[in-house]
Amino acid sequence: MWNDDPKIDEGRENGGLDVEILSVGTELLLGGTANIDAMLLSRRLSELGLNVRYHTVVGDNPVRLKRAVELARLRSDILITTGGLGPTCDDLTKQTVAAAFNKKLVLQQSVVDSIRERFRQMGREMPENNLQQAMLPENCTILPNECGTAPGCAFESGGVHVIMLPGPPRECTAMFDGSAVKYLSLLQQGVILSSTVRIFGITESRLDEILREDMDSMENPTMAPYIKENDCELRVTAKAETRERAEEMIGPVIEKLRLQLGDLIYGVDVSSLEQVALDGLRERGLTLGTAESCTGGLIAKRMTDLPGSSDVFRGGVVSYCNEIKESVLNVPEDVLAEYGAVSLQTAREMAEGARRVLHCDLAVSATGVAGPGPDREGNEAGLVYIGLAAEEGCFVRRVSLGDTGRERVRNLAASHAFDMVRRWLNGLPLEDPSR
Ligand code: ATP
Ligand code: MG
Repeated sequence: MWNDDPKIDEGRENGGLDVEILSVGTELLLGGTANIDAMLLSRRLSELGLNVRYHTVVGDNPVRLKRAVELARLRSDILITTGGLGPTCDDLTKQTVAAAFNKKLVLQQSVVDSIRERFRQMGREMPENNLQQAMLPENCTILPNECGTAPGCAFESGGVHVIMLPGPPRECTAMFDGSAVKYLSLLQQGVILSSTVRIFGITESRLDEILREDMDSMENPTMAPYIKENDCELRVTAKAETRERAEEMIGPVIEKLRLQLGDLIYGVDVSSLEQVALDGLRERGLTLGTAESCTGGLIAKRMTDLPGSSDVFRGGVVSYCNEIKESVLNVPEDVLAEYGAVSLQTAREMAEGARRVLHCDLAVSATGVAGPGPDREGNEAGLVYIGLAAEEGCFVRRVSLGDTGRERVRNLAASHAFDMVRRWLNGLPLEDPSR
């Protein structure tokens, strides 16, 4: 079948630790679920400077799982399992993996207490079978589950480190970020520090073109792109003896990115474009209002999702039909008749109208075609005009977001509005940066 000692045959390429991700779940083999856990963990592990060498998938079958574990322990330094930690009878990862490493499972009282407490908070009694989740390998490090009940665990046996994480991707990544990273950084001796550079207004392929060479040649710090729904982020990760040294290593990389990407970078270690806009407005003591057509209130929603937005956000008008644009925002009838609702002129009148009606310092507007397909006037799907009105005047940005689905068009349009606000606050050009 397989080579008896593949570890020796394969050799070590860069002296780092080799990782195998073993995902357990019959649904993964039947095509019901994509192996998201392996994808998300691999990204994080490479950032940490660990070498992910294998992704293995086995069904909920103890014989095949045992075989997979036996192979993994021969060829990997770190084995990370995902799935099968829950309380049901098909959840057999812990028993099987522990047995393969000759570890007994012991009842962990602290885990029993925390699971019982979790059920109590939900107003329920803990079912008996949940006790099984508190059975963990002897002498292991317990990895708490912030998003669910099944805890994970980590232990070492014969020079191989084993980390067991739950299957649901949210639980799996939260546990990895929350506690498995700490366990792994102890193995690597030193500190692992990341900074996230957030970018808006550039396509993924263009970003790749600019940075590919740097990304490929960097070893420590590493740089990895994450394409989000509305923007891009770059995570710069450094491994060093001390936190100070890691910070010193990350600094110049970010400086270089600032030179390469300029004002496309809207923040480092910030949470979102709307947060940057909100913070900037608050700092200057300015208020904001919105006039929305195609975004249907999404700009206001994303603003009010942020705690403390009431200091800044005064309100918004969802003026979906022309009658409301006219009667509430005072968009002149002849502007609508001559240029149409989806036009630079209407976006301007909407923003200026909102500024007057809502008594705010700054107002943003959005009018466009969310799609699918063109509107009755023949405007293509994805065409959106975004206005920003201030005391000094009004600017309108025209963007073509393509017929890429209503949700995406609306989300991107809202992001453009926040991008305009943060640019206006910083005296930067307001044109669409991706053009
Ligand atoms: P639970 O306590 O929810 O049972 P668990 O750790 O036992 O968690 P599983 O029973 O194996 O995990 O999987 C629970 C669900 O999580 C699956 O139905 C599937 O939707 C999702 N899931 C499991 N493994 C993966 C994976 N590798 N990638 C993406 N989703 C997964
Ligand atoms: Mg389960």
